[in-house]
Amino acid sequence: MANIYIFIGPPGAGKGTMGDIFCERTGVIHVSTGQLLRDEMAAGTALGAKVKDVIASGALVSDEIVAELVKNRIAKADIKEHGCLLDGFPRTVPQADMLDKILKDGNDTMAAVVLIEADAKMLMGRLTSRRMCSNKDCGAIYNVISQKPKVEGICDKCGAKLYQRSDDSVETATNRLKVYEEQTAPLVSYYEAKGQLKRTVSTDRSPEDNYAEMAKVLGI
Ligand code: ADP
Ligand code: ZN
Repeated sequence: MANIYIFIGPPGAGKGTMGDIFCERTGVIHVSTGQLLRDEMAAGTALGAKVKDVIASGALVSDEIVAELVKNRIAKADIKEHGCLLDGFPRTVPQADMLDKILKDGNDTMAAVVLIEADAKMLMGRLTSRRMCSNKDCGAIYNVISQKPKVEGICDKCGAKLYQRSDDSVETATNRLKVYEEQTAPLVSYYEAKGQLKRTVSTDRSPEDNYAEMAKVLGI
């Protein structure tokens, strides 16, 4: 049996950054579906080739593909032992229904669903100034305006090069925000109706301060 946490929120709200802090503090394992998909593309698998164009456009990958990736990942022993944070899944109501079934079949439980909200104007700025560590065992996230690395283009934590995700361009980011409103925002009332939703707001204060607020909401 594993304890599963879910973070929902628009792209750029800080799910990845707050997820990193949460997992570091609690020992829960961070599973980002966006990262699982980027790993497939980097490894040049058939699945990676199949999803490449969809991701580049800012649209969502099919529910079946993502659900399968999640199902396989959360069945592993490390997650059974430590639990996991699902960052970026579910992203649609059908995915939420699929997750319900995956949890039932795996005898896992939902520990909490956290909605991370943020001001719409801030999101666009954050997305287009985001930089990622290229070392996939590190995965640190920076921001060239608010969260600069000590040396430009280099990760503070591991020394690897930083890069800008191709889907963080203005055009793709605009589409991702629209896709969030249309396809993911309905999950808010979905989990609210189940009495499972906890809300926190991410502002332009430091990630640590945003995390502290979220930890209060989670009661940890
Ligand atoms: P962000 O957190 O910035 O929105 P992610 O890294 O979570 O970005 O996702 C990047 C891209 O990967 C998405 O735009 C989408 O194409 C795909 N993706 C990630 N998670 C899912 C999901 N649960 N369902 C469908 N597509 C997904
Ligand atoms: Zn790094």
